[in-house]
Amino acid sequence: MRLYFEPYELQLKYPFRIADYTRTSTPLILTRIEHEGFTGYGEASMPPYLGENTETATRFLSKIRLDDFSEPDIAGIMASIDEIDSGNNAAKASIDIALHDLLGKMKNKACYELMGSDPSKMPATSITIGIDTEELIRKKLEECEKFNFIKVKLGSENDHAIIHTIRKFTQKPIYADANRGWGNKEHAIRMIEFLHEQNCLFVEQPLAVDREKDMIWLKSRSVLPLFADESCKRLKDMEGIKEQFHGINIKLMKSTGLLEAKKMIDLAGNSGLTVMIGCMSETSCGIMAAAAIAPFAKYADIDSPWMITNNPFKQPELSGGKIQLPDKPGLGITPETK
Ligand code: MG
Repeated sequence: MRLYFEPYELQLKYPFRIADYTRTSTPLILTRIEHEGFTGYGEASMPPYLGENTETATRFLSKIRLDDFSEPDIAGIMASIDEIDSGNNAAKASIDIALHDLLGKMKNKACYELMGSDPSKMPATSITIGIDTEELIRKKLEECEKFNFIKVKLGSENDHAIIHTIRKFTQKPIYADANRGWGNKEHAIRMIEFLHEQNCLFVEQPLAVDREKDMIWLKSRSVLPLFADESCKRLKDMEGIKEQFHGINIKLMKSTGLLEAKKMIDLAGNSGLTVMIGCMSETSCGIMAAAAIAPFAKYADIDSPWMITNNPFKQPELSGGKIQLPDKPGLGITPETK
């Protein structure tokens, strides 16, 4: 098996503003694994706040020797690359995703079949509205007509104004993401009550990761389900999550890919934690990998193909606000011809 990879700068349709920073593009590494005439595609998406970048991923991927493996033994390969170095979760995901695409193509099976998910259980995906002016929020909502749920990034002093602005234009249910931006638990509980009145369905990551005691306090009082995002990256982070949150937001770029994401889904099911599947700024490649396991989740927030301008793969199909899983081997993605 041969691994190829190259950097790619993913351009965002609108500047992306969340609680603590703004950006207009996201660095990716696009991977390709070739074996016996088949090609599997993968990607690493590296928003700066997670600590990986083109240099760290290139250094990490350069250490991987796939020629030692004669077949896509995903569990064996992922265990071996986990031993190379800790961290590098997105770089690891770029291998896992490419291996699943490759294996699906070799077995003539769709990735959702490999993962054992049922396409008819696909949840609708939300579409994210960043922190913006009233005019831009109105324009974005018009563009997002075909989505049934709105995801809103909160955590600034303008939170009430943003929600009131959105409610001027649409009554669609909202997924709220505070992105660690609320300074204390008292403010958080007041915000949650306000969001509850505004038909928000849940709140993601209200407080900073190290505020475990405050999260336990918050969970016992919250009228809305609370989801861990930054507080829960990999399987090992799930310890203690149940006390603080009602659910977890699983993203392939945090979990090191599909293999571990599925283990997290299974553990969540056994622990009574609700699952949502989320994403970073990703191409159709990462999104269709996430979509392959999204039917296991109650909520999906896998909207990035609609928020970028230079997707190197064809756009996923959407029907009734749900990403359609194509009946094709592997991820079912097609590179755009240049
Ligand atoms: Mg989040």
